[in-house]
Amino acid sequence: MKNYKLLTPGPLTTTKTVKEEMLFDRCTWDQDYKDITQKIRDQLLEFASATKEEYTVVLMQGSGTFAVESVMTSTISDQDKVLIITNGAYGERVIKMAQYIGLNFSQYSVAYNEYPNEAEIREILEEDQEITHIVMVHCETTTGILNPIEMIASLSKEYGKTLIIDAMSSFGGIEINVPKLGIDYLISSANKCIQGVPGFGFVIANLEKLKACKGNARSLSLDLFDQWKEMDQDGKWRYTSPTHVVAAFSKAIDELVEEGGVSARFTRYQTNNRVLRERLEKVGIHAYISAEKQSPIITTFMFPNEQFNFVEFYQYVKERGFVIYPGKLTDVDTFRIGNIGEIYEEDIHELCNIIEEYMGVVTK
Ligand SMILES: *Cc1c(COP(=O)(O)O)cnc(C)c1O
Repeated sequence: MKNYKLLTPGPLTTTKTVKEEMLFDRCTWDQDYKDITQKIRDQLLEFASATKEEYTVVLMQGSGTFAVESVMTSTISDQDKVLIITNGAYGERVIKMAQYIGLNFSQYSVAYNEYPNEAEIREILEEDQEITHIVMVHCETTTGILNPIEMIASLSKEYGKTLIIDAMSSFGGIEINVPKLGIDYLISSANKCIQGVPGFGFVIANLEKLKACKGNARSLSLDLFDQWKEMDQDGKWRYTSPTHVVAAFSKAIDELVEEGGVSARFTRYQTNNRVLRERLEKVGIHAYISAEKQSPIITTFMFPNEQFNFVEFYQYVKERGFVIYPGKLTDVDTFRIGNIGEIYEEDIHELCNIIEEYMGVVTK
């Protein structure tokens, strides 16, 4: 198979050195391995600007969805009610979880290309005193919209709610000061902006809130409290951990630090995204989300014309070394291009040259 670079928002293109960490089979009981887990947990806290006194990190086997479900099933009790804010497929996935778990919830939805409205959320919180928790997705990877995290955080603080943020596709690529915003549970995973390989998710949790969650979980393997209890002792995971993925992730974190941390990575991603949108705009491929709401992570583009054939376009681009993403909207024909991972401005220029060529525009 011909090699290609992934322009998909996880799994994404990782470095050779991250992949090389997986060439050794580590023992889950060995102290050196357990130390890797503890180091990862400390470093993630630092990226979140959080301290050990106030916050802790729990790693959870599985893809990102497992970590989200772990939070939903473990931190919201039968006496609680959760407000789930949605403007995309990942928010809707949280609704599905709430239904499966049997949570008491209400849904507030807006169009996929719009921000949740502060006044409307305020009205819901005023009217429904039963609500104890709020959930929102930060970067809705469905469209690439970057939801207003400060707005929801300040509302949540004002009304004294527990705040859960799915920052799966933004954490590590966009600075998020978790304690300052007052986020109680922030969820992300190994294979997004930290640029590891898929295999586990993680939760940055308010320690005091988490400690009150004992016995809530309706799932054994997804019990966030129990997972934390065991992991916090000495870095040994409850049940088999994805050893190769953990080692690769640790390397990916070191490389993020070497790059200059989250702010440096943000700048690289933002440049990638800006170049991508500017150049495609010039050949008549327009972004679905308006520029001020656009994340530097992934962009949804509308088909440029009626004749546009995504399958053919995808194949053309893939044969030239890049894999892109189909759209996830039902009402508009779209495709998506992610710009996170081991991807630089040169890669984006190369991709744009290929797309220009496909569109029949001659490049110099
Ligand atoms: C990637 C992602 C998830 C998790 O998806 P998985 O396929 O389970 O890894 C959840 N929420 C958002 C916003 C995502 O981008």
